[in-house]
Amino acid sequence: MTKKPVIGITASYVKHNHYMEGVYVHQDYHKAIVASGGIPLVLPVSTKEMAIHYLAMCDGIIMSGGEDVDPQFYQQDPHQKLGFIFPERDEVELALIQACLDENKPLLGICRGLQILNVALGGTLIQDLPSQVPTSMQHVQTIPRPRSFHSVTIEKNSHLHTIFEKERVRVNSLHHQAIDTLATELKAVAFAGDGIIEAVEHVSKKAWAVQWHPESMFSTSKDMQKLFQTFVQTCQ
Ligand code: MN
Repeated sequence: MTKKPVIGITASYVKHNHYMEGVYVHQDYHKAIVASGGIPLVLPVSTKEMAIHYLAMCDGIIMSGGEDVDPQFYQQDPHQKLGFIFPERDEVELALIQACLDENKPLLGICRGLQILNVALGGTLIQDLPSQVPTSMQHVQTIPRPRSFHSVTIEKNSHLHTIFEKERVRVNSLHHQAIDTLATELKAVAFAGDGIIEAVEHVSKKAWAVQWHPESMFSTSKDMQKLFQTFVQTCQ
Protein backbone atom coordinates (compact mmCIF):
# COMPACT_ATOMS: atom_id res chain seq x y z
CA MET A 1 0.00 0.00 0.00
CA THR A 2 1.49 3.32 -1.03
CA LYS A 3 1.25 5.95 1.64
CA LYS A 4 -1.05 8.77 0.63
CA PRO A 5 -0.31 12.34 1.73
CA VAL A 6 -2.46 13.74 4.54
CA ILE A 7 -4.02 17.06 3.59
CA GLY A 8 -5.32 19.14 6.48
CA ILE A 9 -8.38 21.27 5.69
CA THR A 10 -9.16 24.18 7.98
CA ALA A 11 -12.75 24.14 9.16
CA SER A 12 -15.34 26.60 10.25
CA TYR A 13 -18.05 26.36 12.88
CA VAL A 14 -21.76 26.12 12.32
CA LYS A 15 -24.69 26.18 14.73
CA HIS A 16 -27.89 24.63 13.40
CA ASN A 17 -29.67 24.66 16.77
CA HIS A 18 -28.86 24.11 20.45
CA TYR A 19 -28.02 20.41 20.03
CA MET A 20 -26.35 20.57 16.60
CA GLU A 21 -23.32 22.83 16.53
CA GLY A 22 -19.79 22.11 15.49
CA VAL A 23 -17.24 21.64 12.75
CA TYR A 24 -18.11 22.65 9.20
CA VAL A 25 -16.28 21.97 5.93
CA HIS A 26 -17.99 21.84 2.53
CA GLN A 27 -17.87 18.26 1.24
CA ASP A 28 -16.38 19.40 -2.10
CA TYR A 29 -12.98 19.79 -0.36
CA HIS A 30 -12.63 16.25 0.93
CA LYS A 31 -14.17 14.77 -2.22
CA ALA A 32 -11.57 16.57 -4.39
CA ILE A 33 -8.70 15.49 -2.12
CA VAL A 34 -9.77 11.84 -2.10
CA ALA A 35 -10.22 11.86 -5.89
CA SER A 36 -6.72 13.35 -6.22
CA GLY A 37 -5.06 10.62 -4.12
CA GLY A 38 -4.81 12.34 -0.74
CA ILE A 39 -6.22 11.73 2.73
CA PRO A 40 -8.40 14.62 3.92
CA LEU A 41 -8.08 15.58 7.58
CA VAL A 42 -10.46 18.20 8.93
CA LEU A 43 -8.87 20.64 11.36
CA PRO A 44 -11.45 22.12 13.75
CA VAL A 45 -11.22 25.68 15.02
CA SER A 46 -9.22 25.37 18.20
CA THR A 47 -6.53 27.43 19.90
CA LYS A 48 -3.60 29.00 18.06
CA GLU A 49 -1.30 26.82 20.20
CA MET A 50 -2.77 23.79 18.39
CA ALA A 51 -1.54 25.00 15.00
CA ILE A 52 1.91 23.39 15.20
CA HIS A 53 0.37 20.11 16.35
CA TYR A 54 -2.12 20.17 13.49
CA LEU A 55 0.72 20.84 11.07
CA ALA A 56 2.84 17.97 12.42
CA MET A 57 0.09 15.53 11.40
CA CYS A 58 -0.23 16.88 7.87
CA ASP A 59 1.84 16.74 4.67
CA GLY A 60 0.09 19.84 3.33
CA ILE A 61 -2.64 22.29 4.27
CA ILE A 62 -5.69 23.66 2.47
CA MET A 63 -6.96 26.94 3.90
CA SER A 64 -10.65 26.69 3.04
CA GLY A 65 -13.28 29.29 2.24
CA GLY A 66 -15.65 30.89 4.70
CA GLU A 67 -16.25 34.01 6.74
CA ASP A 68 -14.61 37.39 6.21
CA VAL A 69 -11.27 37.89 7.96
CA ASP A 70 -11.58 40.19 10.98
CA PRO A 71 -10.13 43.52 9.75
CA GLN A 72 -8.35 44.01 13.11
CA PHE A 73 -5.74 41.59 11.73
CA TYR A 74 -4.86 44.13 9.02
CA GLN A 75 -5.26 47.16 11.27
CA GLN A 76 -8.60 48.38 9.93
CA ASP A 77 -12.00 49.04 11.46
CA PRO A 78 -15.05 47.20 10.13
CA HIS A 79 -16.64 48.62 6.98
CA GLN A 80 -20.48 48.88 6.92
CA LYS A 81 -20.68 45.92 4.52
CA LEU A 82 -18.21 43.64 6.28
CA GLY A 83 -19.76 40.17 6.44
CA PHE A 84 -19.81 37.69 9.31
CA ILE A 85 -16.46 37.36 11.09
CA PHE A 86 -15.13 34.67 13.41
CA PRO A 87 -11.84 35.88 14.95
CA GLU A 88 -11.21 32.57 16.76
CA ARG A 89 -10.84 30.92 13.36
CA ASP A 90 -8.58 33.72 12.11
CA GLU A 91 -6.20 33.21 15.05
CA VAL A 92 -5.81 29.48 14.43
CA GLU A 93 -5.36 29.98 10.70
CA LEU A 94 -2.82 32.81 11.05
CA ALA A 95 -0.73 30.59 13.35
CA LEU A 96 -1.12 27.64 10.98
CA ILE A 97 0.03 29.68 7.96
CA GLN A 98 3.08 30.88 9.88
CA ALA A 99 3.98 27.34 10.96
CA CYS A 100 3.38 25.97 7.46
CA LEU A 101 5.65 28.59 5.85
CA ASP A 102 8.32 28.08 8.55
CA GLU A 103 8.44 24.36 7.76
CA ASN A 104 7.85 24.96 4.05
CA LYS A 105 5.08 22.40 3.83
CA PRO A 106 2.76 22.93 0.83
CA LEU A 107 -0.16 25.28 1.38
CA LEU A 108 -3.14 25.91 -0.89
CA GLY A 109 -5.40 28.84 -0.04
CA ILE A 110 -8.92 28.90 -1.44
CA CYS A 111 -11.10 32.04 -1.49
CA ARG A 112 -10.93 33.21 2.16
CA GLY A 113 -7.72 31.13 2.25
CA LEU A 114 -6.14 33.48 -0.31
CA GLN A 115 -7.30 36.50 1.67
CA ILE A 116 -5.98 35.31 5.04
CA LEU A 117 -2.65 34.26 3.46
CA ASN A 118 -2.26 37.84 2.26
CA VAL A 119 -3.20 39.18 5.72
CA ALA A 120 -0.81 36.75 7.46
CA LEU A 121 2.03 38.19 5.38
CA GLY A 122 1.14 41.83 6.04
CA GLY A 123 -1.26 42.63 3.18
CA THR A 124 -4.72 44.19 3.38
CA LEU A 125 -8.17 43.43 1.96
CA ILE A 126 -10.95 45.31 0.22
CA GLN A 127 -13.71 44.69 2.78
CA ASP A 128 -16.59 44.92 0.30
CA LEU A 129 -16.04 45.01 -3.46
CA PRO A 130 -19.45 46.33 -4.63
CA SER A 131 -19.36 49.38 -2.36
CA GLN A 132 -15.61 50.07 -2.26
CA VAL A 133 -14.84 49.30 -5.91
CA PRO A 134 -18.10 50.15 -7.72
CA THR A 135 -16.38 49.68 -11.09
CA SER A 136 -15.62 46.02 -10.34
CA MET A 137 -17.53 43.27 -12.09
CA GLN A 138 -19.92 40.95 -10.27
CA HIS A 139 -17.93 38.47 -8.16
CA VAL A 140 -20.81 36.78 -6.33
CA GLN A 141 -22.45 34.45 -8.79
CA THR A 142 -26.07 33.38 -8.44
CA ILE A 143 -25.64 30.30 -10.64
CA PRO A 144 -24.63 26.99 -8.95
CA ARG A 145 -21.10 26.73 -7.45
CA PRO A 146 -19.67 24.24 -9.99
CA ARG A 147 -20.44 26.60 -12.90
CA SER A 148 -17.76 28.99 -14.15
CA PHE A 149 -18.74 32.67 -14.07
CA HIS A 150 -15.88 34.87 -15.25
CA SER A 151 -12.51 34.41 -16.89
CA VAL A 152 -9.08 35.12 -15.40
CA THR A 153 -5.80 35.90 -17.11
CA ILE A 154 -2.90 33.77 -15.86
CA GLU A 155 0.62 35.22 -15.74
CA LYS A 156 3.27 33.34 -17.67
CA ASN A 157 6.16 32.08 -15.51
CA SER A 158 3.78 31.14 -12.72
CA HIS A 159 2.99 27.84 -11.03
CA LEU A 160 -0.62 28.16 -12.24
CA HIS A 161 0.52 28.63 -15.84
CA THR A 162 2.58 25.45 -15.54
CA ILE A 163 -0.53 23.60 -14.35
CA PHE A 164 -3.09 25.02 -16.80
CA GLU A 165 -0.70 25.49 -19.76
CA LYS A 166 -2.76 28.46 -20.96
CA GLU A 167 -3.27 32.13 -20.21
CA ARG A 168 -7.04 32.25 -19.87
CA VAL A 169 -9.18 30.11 -17.59
CA ARG A 170 -12.87 30.27 -16.65
CA VAL A 171 -13.51 30.22 -12.91
CA ASN A 172 -16.43 30.44 -10.51
CA SER A 173 -16.73 33.46 -8.22
CA LEU A 174 -18.20 33.57 -4.71
CA HIS A 175 -16.45 36.44 -2.95
CA HIS A 176 -17.38 40.00 -1.98
CA GLN A 177 -13.87 40.75 -0.69
CA ALA A 178 -10.50 40.77 -2.45
CA ILE A 179 -6.84 41.62 -1.97
CA ASP A 180 -6.16 45.34 -1.66
CA THR A 181 -2.47 45.80 -0.78
CA LEU A 182 -0.56 42.68 -1.80
CA ALA A 183 1.91 41.30 0.76
CA THR A 184 5.52 41.79 -0.37
CA GLU A 185 6.26 38.04 -0.20
CA LEU A 186 3.39 37.26 -2.58
CA LYS A 187 3.21 37.60 -6.34
CA ALA A 188 -0.14 38.16 -8.10
CA VAL A 189 -0.42 35.54 -10.86
CA ALA A 190 -4.04 35.78 -12.06
CA PHE A 191 -6.40 38.70 -12.60
CA ALA A 192 -10.07 39.16 -13.42
CA GLY A 193 -11.01 41.57 -16.22
CA ASP A 194 -11.56 44.37 -13.69
CA GLY A 195 -8.01 44.00 -12.35
CA ILE A 196 -9.01 42.16 -9.15
CA ILE A 197 -6.33 39.69 -8.04
CA GLU A 198 -7.62 36.14 -8.48
CA ALA A 199 -4.50 34.10 -7.60
CA VAL A 200 -1.18 34.54 -5.80
CA GLU A 201 1.93 32.52 -5.12
CA HIS A 202 4.67 32.92 -2.54
CA VAL A 203 7.98 34.17 -3.92
CA SER A 204 10.02 31.42 -2.25
CA LYS A 205 7.75 28.96 -0.36
CA LYS A 206 5.39 26.23 -1.54
CA ALA A 207 2.32 28.39 -0.98
CA TRP A 208 -0.32 29.13 -3.62
CA ALA A 209 -3.80 30.56 -3.41
CA VAL A 210 -6.79 31.19 -5.64
CA GLN A 211 -9.78 33.48 -5.14
CA TRP A 212 -12.20 31.05 -6.78
CA HIS A 213 -13.43 27.62 -5.61
CA PRO A 214 -11.62 24.88 -7.60
CA GLU A 215 -12.95 22.18 -5.24
CA SER A 216 -16.51 22.98 -6.36
CA MET A 217 -15.53 22.83 -10.05
CA PHE A 218 -13.58 19.58 -9.60
CA SER A 219 -16.21 17.23 -11.00
CA THR A 220 -16.70 19.27 -14.18
CA SER A 221 -13.37 21.01 -14.87
CA LYS A 222 -10.21 19.28 -16.09
CA ASP A 223 -8.27 22.44 -15.16
CA MET A 224 -9.34 22.25 -11.53
CA GLN A 225 -8.66 18.52 -11.40
CA LYS A 226 -5.10 19.27 -12.50
CA LEU A 227 -4.83 21.99 -9.85
CA PHE A 228 -5.80 19.59 -7.05
CA GLN A 229 -3.80 16.65 -8.38
CA THR A 230 -0.66 18.80 -8.63
CA PHE A 231 -1.13 20.05 -5.08
CA VAL A 232 -1.65 16.56 -3.64
CA GLN A 233 1.44 15.31 -5.54
CA THR A 234 3.49 18.20 -4.13
CA CYS A 235 2.46 17.05 -0.63
CA GLN A 236 3.66 13.48 -1.31
MN1 MN B 1 -13.94 36.55 -8.86
